[in-house]
Amino acid sequence: MKVLSVASEVYPLIKTGGLADVAGALPAALAAHGVDMQVLLPGYKSVMAKLVNPVRMMEFDNLFGTKAMIMAYRMDGVQYLVLDAPELFDRDGGPYTDISGADHPDNWRRFAALCRAAASIVEEGLDGWVPDVVHAHDWQAGLVPAYLQQGPAAATPSVMTVHNIAFQGQFSADIFAELGLPTSVFTVDGIEYYGDVSYLKGGLQLASAITTVSPTYAQEIRTPEFGMGLEGLINARAANLHGIVNGIDTTVWDPASDPMIEANYSEGKLKKRQPNRRALAARFGLTEQDGPIFTVVSRLTWQKGMDVLAEVANDIVAMGGQIAVLGSGDPELEDALLAAAQRHPGHIGVIIGYDEPLSHLMQAGGDALLVPSRFEPCGLTQLYGLRYGNVPVVARTGGLADTIIDANEAASAARVATGFQFSPVTPDALRETVRRAVRAHSDRKAWARLQNQGMNADVSWDRSAARYAALYADLVVSGTNT
Ligand code: ADP
Repeated sequence: MKVLSVASEVYPLIKTGGLADVAGALPAALAAHGVDMQVLLPGYKSVMAKLVNPVRMMEFDNLFGTKAMIMAYRMDGVQYLVLDAPELFDRDGGPYTDISGADHPDNWRRFAALCRAAASIVEEGLDGWVPDVVHAHDWQAGLVPAYLQQGPAAATPSVMTVHNIAFQGQFSADIFAELGLPTSVFTVDGIEYYGDVSYLKGGLQLASAITTVSPTYAQEIRTPEFGMGLEGLINARAANLHGIVNGIDTTVWDPASDPMIEANYSEGKLKKRQPNRRALAARFGLTEQDGPIFTVVSRLTWQKGMDVLAEVANDIVAMGGQIAVLGSGDPELEDALLAAAQRHPGHIGVIIGYDEPLSHLMQAGGDALLVPSRFEPCGLTQLYGLRYGNVPVVARTGGLADTIIDANEAASAARVATGFQFSPVTPDALRETVRRAVRAHSDRKAWARLQNQGMNADVSWDRSAARYAALYADLVVSGTNT
């Protein structure tokens, strides 16, 4: 089974969030299930700089007005296909924004080019490698099904995965004429969305199957509260909708061998976490004390409930907790958290920025991980928290609801609890749950049990990779929507 995966970010070549981790982990996870997956991604400046002796596979004389190439690059057993189009991708800033944080004005063109290139790979093959299925991730890959359906490989099935339905890739209708698609596609049954063009909507409409990254989120996006306007379409396609929870790359995220942390340890050997805790406290200027260190590794946005965290920060300190925050995002939320740190030196530390190694240390050294998200398609940090003994304290939504077992009386007695859940996402609910966690932490034996139970939870890709493999197989066999 040959599958072309198409994503705008793929770890370890480029990452801004969970999508990169997932797109990066899938090829190895699926190889174990007989799937030969290659990953197509844009050749951003920072990506091109990482490629050593890439091989030229395909050339485009005119891909949206520019010359482009597909370069193949093999690393650690994964074949990356990089779309090298300097006019579109050789820029400073992030994958989607310039250095000032503003969206690139031609994002519609940049990602349409990625989708068009994906369709060409399916149509022409690469050195005899012809995908049986195309797997498109998020809006940046949303036009893949549309391009496919218009060409000679229209029979090739496609899967559209929603990692976050809040990001839809919606652009003015003016761009349609430049997409190279027939006007028949600019309809309510295609990529038209309230008079605009929507890449995600088009993908959801035209893909053979839709998946999202947890069973609970698959249900949530059928409702107006979470569907962000696409709930009607999602409901209409419910028979083709699958919720498959993300796993994590257990070789990258393994406390027993992680080179980015201070001291390696494993389940049952929790004392060995101590050097990590000390290093974490030092990095964030936290004084040594008995109460739990609550860690946050997150985009600092409304979605992630960071305003709610800022509101209860004083109370968490009053309860004897400390807080270490690593993240960046909304300037107002950054300021609110920095102000909390200024009010409580030694008890709250905030580092604004993106720091992959530090994110590992925070999981290895923290006592508890706070994830107060208003919605969370899957969430990965709580899975890292489980694996590292950093007990997750999470909102009961989306993948957080699916992956954490609340330490209520029954679950604690049955020794299956792995963290704490709360709902709704309000200061009161968060405060009370943190209080519960602080109290639980004071019983060190019970806390260690909680940590060990989390570390024993299966957060690997095994089961979910099998589900993707089965879905691909179904699509190929049936040739129809699954
Ligand atoms: P999302 O994709 O919505 O941002 P996820 O929990 O699915 O949320 O994935 C976030 C990923 O990004 C995790 O791997 C997390 O460790 C990482 N991450 C988030 N913020 C930072 C940061 N400031 N520095 C390093 N890693 C970060």
